[in-house]
Amino acid sequence: SLKCGILGLPNVGKSTLFRAITEIQVDAQNYPFCTIEPNVAMVAVPDERLAVLAKIVKTQILVPTTIEIMDIAGLVKGASKGEGLGNKFLSHVREARALIHVVRCFEDPNVIHVEGTIDPKRDIEIIETELALADLESMEKQLQRIDKESRIDKKMFSKATFAHTVYEALCKGIPARSLPQNDDEIIWLSSFFLLTSKPILYVANVHERDAVTGNIFSKTVSTYAAQNNAQAITISANIEADIAMLPPGERLEYLQTIGLTSSGLDKMIQACYTLLHLQTYFTAGEKEVRAWTVPKNATAAEAAGVIHSDFQKGFIRAEVMSYNDLVTYGSEQKVKEAGKLNIEGKAYRVQDVPFDATHKSS
Ligand code: GDP
Repeated sequence: SLKCGILGLPNVGKSTLFRAITEIQVDAQNYPFCTIEPNVAMVAVPDERLAVLAKIVKTQILVPTTIEIMDIAGLVKGASKGEGLGNKFLSHVREARALIHVVRCFEDPNVIHVEGTIDPKRDIEIIETELALADLESMEKQLQRIDKESRIDKKMFSKATFAHTVYEALCKGIPARSLPQNDDEIIWLSSFFLLTSKPILYVANVHERDAVTGNIFSKTVSTYAAQNNAQAITISANIEADIAMLPPGERLEYLQTIGLTSSGLDKMIQACYTLLHLQTYFTAGEKEVRAWTVPKNATAAEAAGVIHSDFQKGFIRAEVMSYNDLVTYGSEQKVKEAGKLNIEGKAYRVQDVPFDATHKSS
């Protein structure tokens, strides 16, 4: 499943954020194959193309695609030693495909900081170090095997060299994702199954008054992310919690009164979706318009398999049109007449336009 795990030091706003996410989660009844766990919320990935398509094919039923967000409680220093809560923490991190790291960027004398002061870089490094320590243990075991393999098979030599580079970095507390990676290295790295190589989104949680502009702390977080092959966004968890409590129809107006144009949670969910290396394709008809999720580079046959595994087995060809063509020509018939309806075989790679290019969130 496509789980993103929320983690962070105590008192940074994780529960506040997770509560907001729980408020906006989708009705599980519409997704009968999902299991429900108390620390996991399923959220719709906002995509305004759904409404556009619904108008064209004249349906009222819009089914967005979803991702799951998991609340990973209980990071304490020393988690990597695997005692009590630490074990549970690490197994939750392992379960997550991507990580959402909430970083405290708000000052509030009434909310103590476990480390005494507000210092986002230090906080990020505390957690990365815990994860790096767990990875270090795992790499130690793997290195013995990889070294042995490289003595037998010369082709394995570069992989072994890279494995040692990763190990050295982890020794210094540097997350594996921060290392520069070529195509081979990306594949090797994923074969090591490390925690610090999971894609990560830093969420700089700022005070309500800084929600629009960010602040000096959130800037530190953005800079850190840019330098370490990670993503960052700025939100105020308190505001998100307030907005999530409102009926959906009233949220935009409230956002605008405080000077925001889009919900921070929406931005966060879209950022997670991108982080997971996913893309969307649509099915559209009178019955419903529906967004489906496939990995980037998925073939048409794999995409059909997301709807039903039988569709993948029996796949011969699909009629494909691009979203933009459908919007431009206004109906399937007109797309066909313009010669833009293509018959594609098994190996056709599904194409999405990146979110940022098409999506003005509202
Ligand atoms: P957790 O320990 O990381 O789950 O943190 P909580 O969500 O429980 O938040 C700890 C405290 O910080 C609570 O009193 C929250 O009200 C406060 N807090 C969280 N987010 C914000 C925020 O955006 N602005 C302000 N001013 N306080 C916040």
